[in-house]
Amino acid sequence: METITIVGGGIAGLALAAALDPSRFHVTVYEKRPELPSVGTVLAMWPNAQRALARVGILAQAREVSPVLGSGSIRNAAGEPWMTVNGGELFGISRVDLLRLLESAVPRSVSRVTRHLRELPAEAGLVVGADGVHSAVRRQVWGAAVDARVTSCLALRGTIPAPVDPDAVGEYWGKGDLFGIAASPGGTNWYASWRSDLGPSGIDVELALEQARQRFAGHAPAIRQVLVATVPELSLAQRIWTTPPLRSYVRGAAVLVGDAAHAMTPNLGRGACESLVDAVTLADLLNTLPQERALAAYSRQRRLRTQALSRASAAMMRVALADRAQPLRDRLLSLARRRNARTAVGSGSGR
Ligand SMILES: Cc1cc2nc3c(=O)[nH]c(=O)nc-3n(C[C@H](O)[C@H](O)[C@H](O)COP(=O)(O)OP(=O)(O)OC[C@H]3O[C@@H](n4cnc5c(N)ncnc54)[C@H](O)[C@@H]3O)c2cc1C
Repeated sequence: METITIVGGGIAGLALAAALDPSRFHVTVYEKRPELPSVGTVLAMWPNAQRALARVGILAQAREVSPVLGSGSIRNAAGEPWMTVNGGELFGISRVDLLRLLESAVPRSVSRVTRHLRELPAEAGLVVGADGVHSAVRRQVWGAAVDARVTSCLALRGTIPAPVDPDAVGEYWGKGDLFGIAASPGGTNWYASWRSDLGPSGIDVELALEQARQRFAGHAPAIRQVLVATVPELSLAQRIWTTPPLRSYVRGAAVLVGDAAHAMTPNLGRGACESLVDAVTLADLLNTLPQERALAAYSRQRRLRTQALSRASAAMMRVALADRAQPLRDRLLSLARRRNARTAVGSGSGR
């Protein structure tokens, strides 16, 4: 039996523990959180993440507890849609449900330790850093030069028990801020972002909500209705952190997965999805190849793709939160909307 130590029992760590071959590996997962988080905002599951959920055997259960996201619009601050995106089969799973289902897929043979790991244990074997954006494994093995970097943007998000209004679904781009409304299990999921000097850590949710209510007061009525119904107990506030690009996700007997490898801004909704794909890719390679080859293949397969997504997410954040360039952005998007409408009418009349 080979030994694998997974630091972090979040999305990536649990998915990896669930997918590793228990007849080949002795796996230990260290997780500092003693129980599931109490606030579970929604994560959109893209097709590649759905395939990863199928690989660990929980896709059907995940679909069962999650609403299909359907179509949503990118809108201006007043709520007028610029473009509508059909979400197809994307569903939005609560983070709590996802963690619970991943937990249920982890075999009993995996040892679980509830502890904040500060030093790697002796005889750790292969060490997997699945410990998120502030990864201690990344710092210990790759050095402090690649520590996470704080962005100027705040992410405030939550759920309300009221059913989502289908006409309000989408993302509202204002001047230097954005607001999103989507379905959540049993209600409405919402999120907001803007440049803020709150934090970077220990942000008071009530204060962030107060700022949001002031900031979005002149925006679409749907946003104001959500913020009126929002309570701090069902909300989370944090600054957005990202990690600098690494030349490899592997160094010696250490490997990084999920946010520890590539924490990106949330604007494309891909971080958790790519964490799941990292986990099943690494597990399948380790299950079938000698360790050294498996690790090299993992880094090759995952690094360029995830780093391209990180760059695309950052670019999306700049467009969505445009400040000085907001009037130009809005004009371009309005033009694109008019052109699309003309094309639709033209093709509708058979020309
Ligand atoms: C505002 C916001 C919105 C987002 N929306 C989406 C979305 O819609 N779709 C999407 O796909 N992604 C989204 N993401 C990204 C997603 O949350 C992350 O990519 C995902 O959680 C990464 O999973 P992970 O397992 O790598 O890390 P984490 O979820 O951070 O898990 C790391 C785990 O390691 C544990 N840990 C850390 N250090 C130690 C230690 N030293 N010892 C023991 N345990 C430790 C932590 O307690 C935690 O449980 C969003 C992120 C943010 C900030």
